Amino acid sequence: MTDAKMVLNPGSNFPLTFYNVDKNIMRKMVMLLEEGKNKGYRAQSRPLVGLIAETGLRCKEIDDYILEFKPRYLNKIEELKNSTEDWNTASERDKKRLLREFREEAVESLDIIPACNLERLFEDEDKDAIALLIAATYTKTADTSRMLRELKGFESIIKHFEIGTSADGPCPHCEQMAEKKYSFNDLPKFPLHIGCRCSLQYICK
Ligand SMILES: [Zn+2]
Repeated sequence: MTDAKMVLNPGSNFPLTFYNVDKNIMRKMVMLLEEGKNKGYRAQSRPLVGLIAETGLRCKEIDDYILEFKPRYLNKIEELKNSTEDWNTASERDKKRLLREFREEAVESLDIIPACNLERLFEDEDKDAIALLIAATYTKTADTSRMLRELKGFESIIKHFEIGTSADGPCPHCEQMAEKKYSFNDLPKFPLHIGCRCSLQYICK
């Protein structure tokens, strides 16, 4: 085990940087990701959970997201408690119910919302959530690179690119990006953020 960081998919649109890993762990991670890549992100991510638990590996891009957005999430919950008159006098049971609502509202208030259970990511650094973010980001990055590579030489038949938002609810950041049309030369780096639910689509002339 080394302290050095190692990068998964270097040079791609969304490299993922890992700590607490060595070459063998990285190799195993790529193998698990590749084996599961047609099974859907959730199934693909499952075998990674054990690897995360065994090695204590950390992903910089996920840590960065937690560092920036967890305080906003917690502040929002505090704000909601303070603005709810009944909070202090509520029974334990009502507090539990209110807190569930506050957590949901706090997640929805964020402008970048990755596809995982954010409550569990923020509150427990949940390994299922971390594994899902790794699988989704890795696979979406690879799929997008492949699509763009295959389109090389066909630029003239493409009218424009656009961001397709997911029915599960895009985040405000992605919604804003989806309002625009993009040419081959001004494509945003896709996926737009860790665990992005959106897809890059092209429209032919
Ligand atoms: Zn988004």
